[in-house]
Amino acid sequence: EREHVMNFSPGPAKLPDEVLVQAQKDLTNYAGTGVSVMELSHRSKDFESIIQRAEQDLRSLLDIPENYKVLFMQGGGTGQFCAVPCNLMDLKPGRTADYIVTGCWSEKAAKEAEKYGSVNLVLPKTKKYTGIPPESEWNLNPDASYVFYCANETVHGVEFQFIPETNGVPLVCDMSSNILTRQVDISKFGVIFAGAQKNIGCAGCTVIIIREDLLGRALPNIPAVFCYNTMNTNNSLFNTPPTYSIYIMGLVFNWKKENGGVDGMEENSLVKSGLIYDVIDNSSGFYVCPVNIDCRSRMNVPFRIGSAEGCDVLEKKFLDQAAELGMIQLKGHRSVGGIRVSLYNAVTVEETQILADFMKDFLNKHR
Ligand code: PMP
Repeated sequence: EREHVMNFSPGPAKLPDEVLVQAQKDLTNYAGTGVSVMELSHRSKDFESIIQRAEQDLRSLLDIPENYKVLFMQGGGTGQFCAVPCNLMDLKPGRTADYIVTGCWSEKAAKEAEKYGSVNLVLPKTKKYTGIPPESEWNLNPDASYVFYCANETVHGVEFQFIPETNGVPLVCDMSSNILTRQVDISKFGVIFAGAQKNIGCAGCTVIIIREDLLGRALPNIPAVFCYNTMNTNNSLFNTPPTYSIYIMGLVFNWKKENGGVDGMEENSLVKSGLIYDVIDNSSGFYVCPVNIDCRSRMNVPFRIGSAEGCDVLEKKFLDQAAELGMIQLKGHRSVGGIRVSLYNAVTVEETQILADFMKDFLNKHR
């Protein structure tokens, strides 16, 4: 039994109760094998069926076309910041890639890519990530090997509500913090990657969805474990994969299928984020979300309390009182401060409503 704690963590994040209950059973005796799911050989029939089922379920949830490969890798989102340029920089001569930087994660990705080629910043440089300039103002390079963007900036709370148009240049997307929270047309992408620890499982595994014609163009000195082609040829079993993380992911995919699929996740995400944004918008400036309305994240809602100066005391009080009521992990990222509410798929509408009610109470007591 879990304590009644409401975990609004940005990641590693809450997992559905049903998933944890199943994992508890399989921990000591997986499907009658007499061994823990953690003890299964990655070459065993049992694990083979775990990884194959996970892939099939992901394919059906996201409606992934046949000419796309699914890879399970290690190294997290940060590993992919390196894997992407190593695998794709050579798609065109000149080794240059476009980066749409809308927050600290795409900023980190661009910085990593500079080690392997030249990086063109599509948007003017900024440190204040609060919006996405209109596409008409973007500086896209038609000769870029690929265009990189982050669908949801986990720290700054900036989320794309559209898929960028790249006029044929392969589009690479970091979906670490919003994969499987809305239906997307996979055929618009060259590569999608996502770490597991927010919307799809526990830390350890990173999912890659890649259009097959983009395989096989890696830089010659690429580390083998980061080579998409090598991973694909070996069905993600080139070396020992993060077996437990893949297993948990499979349980989460199954849970999503049983809970309305991606449409269900999308609907819930709108309801939950709407509850929090409504309180912010009706607080007469007591709660301040700096992000433009058209790109507010449905997954991570960052806000400050009161004016920028002197809000620290109030924010600390907010966090302390919330924690007393069982609402944890609400502290904003150390780089931006304030509060951040993360609303990944396992967080329920009920939990979010309790938080929204607390925010209203807190507002009434302190404004
Ligand atoms: N991209 C995004 C959007 C993220 O939120 C994170 C982690 N919070 C990362 C990349 C980095 O992932 P990891 O810690 O798995 O390397």
